[in-house]
Amino acid sequence: MTATGVLVSTFWLSLIIGARYLLIAGGVWWAVWGRSTGVGTRLNRERPSRRLMLHEIKFSLLSTPIYAFPTAVALEAWKAGGTMIYVDPGEWPLWWLPVSFLLLLVIQDTHYYWTHRLLHDRRVFGWAHAAHHRARDPSPFASFAFDPVEAVLTAWLLPVLAFMLPLNIWMLAVLLAVMTVTAVMNHCGWEMWPQRWVRGRIGSQLITATHHSRHHTHMKTNFGLYFRVWDRLCGTDAMPALVERGPGGPANPLRTTREP
Ligand SMILES: [Zn+2]
Ligand SMILES: [Zn+2]
Repeated sequence: MTATGVLVSTFWLSLIIGARYLLIAGGVWWAVWGRSTGVGTRLNRERPSRRLMLHEIKFSLLSTPIYAFPTAVALEAWKAGGTMIYVDPGEWPLWWLPVSFLLLLVIQDTHYYWTHRLLHDRRVFGWAHAAHHRARDPSPFASFAFDPVEAVLTAWLLPVLAFMLPLNIWMLAVLLAVMTVTAVMNHCGWEMWPQRWVRGRIGSQLITATHHSRHHTHMKTNFGLYFRVWDRLCGTDAMPALVERGPGGPANPLRTTREP
């Protein structure tokens, strides 16, 4: 592993991470805001402005090299045989594939919940998390819009785990896809899943746009990433109550009150 190798990989990974973000966030923006019908239940009161989206894209593109650098270190170390990443799924028992996938989700979720609580501390928020909260109604482009401090605090997690746990490369690819798509969906301003599922037995354990958009309107609640368990354990969980949209009713069909 050489410094030049890490720098070259950081450059290419920045391009890949940036392109992945623009493509997926742009595609979801078109699906929910580019057409007149949207998808599912509208959450945002206002349509995201061009100015807001440019702000979100700017901070997202600033985050890309910050995410690319530790990933490049892990990639170069892997090429030199120095990580626990493996390619052949049969190298470890097959049950480890779904178990390691779930384990990474749980580790990421726990790390994010507590980091996110710290980022909302009054002494930290202004210089570490305010860029993500520029507007109470985010757009899909907010999914990767982090202040550089927040990006530094979160970017190292998966690359470090690649040195500690045997992780299959294809499982990691699926995880990265899930991370990207859920982050974009959670910020798109629409709940794409049916409300019945979101509030059902499985959906009510998971964080979707309805849950995370409430974090953007009420910043003292809903700090989790994938699961609602930490928010529930720590008393920070809240869901907007579902209100029927009637003629002359509110543009936002979800009332922002705590459920009993
Ligand atoms: Zn926040
Ligand atoms: Zn957010």
